[in-house]
Amino acid sequence: MTDIISNLNAINTEIRAAESQAERKESSVSLLAVSKTKPSADISIAYQAGQRHFGENYLQEALIKQKELSHYQIIWHFIGPIQSNKTKQIATNFSWVHSVDRLKIAQRLSEQRPDDLPPLNICLQINISEEESKAGIILDDLADMVEQIERLPKIKLRGVMAIPEPAQSYDQQRKPYRQLYNAIKALNKPELDTFSFGMTGDLKAAITEGATIVRVGSALFGARI
Ligand SMILES: *Cc1c(COP(=O)(O)O)cnc(C)c1O
Repeated sequence: MTDIISNLNAINTEIRAAESQAERKESSVSLLAVSKTKPSADISIAYQAGQRHFGENYLQEALIKQKELSHYQIIWHFIGPIQSNKTKQIATNFSWVHSVDRLKIAQRLSEQRPDDLPPLNICLQINISEEESKAGIILDDLADMVEQIERLPKIKLRGVMAIPEPAQSYDQQRKPYRQLYNAIKALNKPELDTFSFGMTGDLKAAITEGATIVRVGSALFGARI
């Protein structure tokens, strides 16, 4: 059996150690627990141990779990690919979306965010390694996209999310994150304060290069079958 509580403690310890080694402020990095394919019972265990932010990739699956867990104060993040016919439910049922990869999706999320909710927090997904098979905006288009998205009333652009191609070494892992971090800083927009960088395998490199959210699934909940 997967020991979710001891995994959670170990990951938080690893995050604090990486913050300290990188001379970052303690707790400047938060853990997003990626619960895709895992049951509500697993989310409950992590929640009761103090975890509050959970990430889901598949809308229908997420909606079921949100209903089952509606008595908890969970902050739900959508991190999966977005089809435009799903934006209304995403805009209604999540606090954050990390995987916005085109203007049309941002426009729909803004239009469909219910008026009684605060603006939806979004990150632009950047195809930092410029892989043809991957979703995301290329760096050359970033500044334009930021300008257009910042005009939308019901979303709050918070920063970027990236999943670089797998790297051979720690230094290679760091490189794309550093490049993207610097590209954002060069825009000189302090409201872009969120860097959703790093997963189970490259957490330390991501934190060294400025991650503020790391997204961890299998190291917390066990391998997905
Ligand atoms: C599944 C997923 C994760 C978590 O991956 P693990 O390797 O299980 O830690 C993180 N980010 C995104 C976008 C994912 O889809």
